[in-house]
Amino acid sequence: MVTYVYECPTCGQQFEARQKMSEPALINCRTEGCEGAPRRVILPSVFVLKGKGWFKDGY
Ligand SMILES: [Zn+2]
Repeated sequence: MVTYVYECPTCGQQFEARQKMSEPALINCRTEGCEGAPRRVILPSVFVLKGKGWFKDGY
């Protein structure tokens, strides 16, 4: 099991989710009444951060 941290851009909440690495990312925010789509803010180090969206902060 791996603990992932998600951040919801809609309500700003961060929460942790323990998942197997084979599980897909969460797609629903855990905040009651929020319909935002959270995104992972920490990835396991085995992943190489090559995807788009990781370089938008000026790197
Ligand atoms: Zn939310």
